Amino acid sequence: MLGQMMHMPLTISSLVAHAGRYHAQTEILSVNTGGGTEQTTWGGIDANARRLASALGGLGLGPQARCATIAWNNRRHLEIYFGVSGGGYVCHTINPRLFPEQLIYIINHAEDEVLFIDSTFIPLVAAIRDKLTTVKHIVLLETEVGGAGDTLPGIVAYDALLAHGDTGYEWPDLDEQTASSLCYTSGTTGNPKGVLFSHRSTVLHSFASNLTDSIAFSAMDVVLPVVPMFHVNAWGTPYACAMAGSRMVMPGPGLDGASLVSLIDTHQVSIALGVPTIWLGLLGHAEAAGSELKSLRRTVVGGSACPPSMIETFRERYGVDTVHAWGMTEMSPLGTINQPLAKHSGLPMDAQHRLRENQGRPPWGVELKIVDPDGADLPHDGETQGELLVRGHFILDAYFHSTAAETLQDGWFNTGDVATIDPDGYLTIRDRSKDIIKSGGEWISSVELESIAIAHPSLADAAVIGARHAKWDERPVLIAVLAEGAEATPEEVLQIFEGRVARWQVPDTVVFTDVLPRNATGKVLKRNLRDKFGEVLLV
Ligand code: ADP
Repeated sequence: MLGQMMHMPLTISSLVAHAGRYHAQTEILSVNTGGGTEQTTWGGIDANARRLASALGGLGLGPQARCATIAWNNRRHLEIYFGVSGGGYVCHTINPRLFPEQLIYIINHAEDEVLFIDSTFIPLVAAIRDKLTTVKHIVLLETEVGGAGDTLPGIVAYDALLAHGDTGYEWPDLDEQTASSLCYTSGTTGNPKGVLFSHRSTVLHSFASNLTDSIAFSAMDVVLPVVPMFHVNAWGTPYACAMAGSRMVMPGPGLDGASLVSLIDTHQVSIALGVPTIWLGLLGHAEAAGSELKSLRRTVVGGSACPPSMIETFRERYGVDTVHAWGMTEMSPLGTINQPLAKHSGLPMDAQHRLRENQGRPPWGVELKIVDPDGADLPHDGETQGELLVRGHFILDAYFHSTAAETLQDGWFNTGDVATIDPDGYLTIRDRSKDIIKSGGEWISSVELESIAIAHPSLADAAVIGARHAKWDERPVLIAVLAEGAEATPEEVLQIFEGRVARWQVPDTVVFTDVLPRNATGKVLKRNLRDKFGEVLLV
């Protein structure tokens, strides 16, 4: 026989075992749900994750039993990530911002047996408890249950459950293809769909995240995942940080600008990750509070298009590098990330800055292509736009309780996005295919118009929809929220587009509103806006 290498399965337990052994003293700071902070270490997380896995075995759960969480980003949630998956169960993270009917649907569909909840969500769970057909154990992420037993009879405290666990517990050998975690997409149309990650896909996604030209967490970093752990596993941050041995700051329930600026400055955060709306709040507060965000080196921004004006403010005002990333739940989520190539370093600074604005190029492990409506491949010339399809090591094969035949298109996953890809693989998301504006024979990107509009000093928020038009079928209309105390006419707002897009792409009008409707993951509900304002150009 020719030589071979050892086969060791790529498991989530190997990540925390590594962190527990080689980064045992590295601190994890956590904001408690009830206020105040606590501190543990990767050694402490590993020990408690083992105790939890052992205690769950004591509850008599079978392999792959689903254990759900409705919780903030905190220390116990981190232990659950590793303890549940490492023990051979499936960690199902649930977004608390879903409607009660969606929560009931998801929990029953996943057949969750254990429900770990933060105290914030006691009323939410109490209101739906009698509709949850499979949940046998509810665990409160606290030292004691206190009064929670009155509303949720039988609830146990996390710390009491852990007391039954064994720190000497040895992680089981699992097949790396075993399911490890489950996350439902927000389901703006139809029922939410479950995306089931495996140990192998999670470990490979962590490698892809930790490449130098990717997010690149290091043992030198202090990492603040603002993106919630119920939102595609906080973009995989806990796993990748365990792999790297990074310090972590878990922000708990307070994701407002003031709390985040204080955490960054107090704990010397070097990398923070979150969606653009979060950073709008943070930048507003940092300016008002006079914070220099001195320790912050990098922000990773994704989930929706990052406005160029935000990248510029971070860079010019705070010396922070904004790394723009694109992905989706079905991709674990990392699909592309914007880091430069060697050939870009000779370009004028302006050109280099502009290149950092798009959604970036795929890391190893992801392949991209664009196709026309008949499924034929389109050129990667940076100009032709088409439906974006992906495949790779950490991309969905089949939704939970579904088949690949129902989910894929010729072995590729159709993202539902419309994009261009340039010869180097840099991706520009033009729109969700259902949101792109079809004006006459031309397509207009609502994403591009929104990125420009949000830089207007009088606006706090902006969305662009295709409104019905007698001559052109659809024309763009800007739905705008005025900044506090600001006043502006539609004409004044529309001036911001001058010289930035072709004349025929400028929105026909501006409608002012108080607040934009958003779904549970913070994305603007364009369908609601179209229902409300889709006919403004017909009157
Ligand atoms: P996530 O849960 O990570 O937000 P979802 O599955 O809810 O992912 O949504 C994914 C969609 O969000 C993508 O298909 C795309 O339309 C949009 N999106 C994500 N990141 C970006 C980005 N950087 N720029 C533009 N759109 C983005």
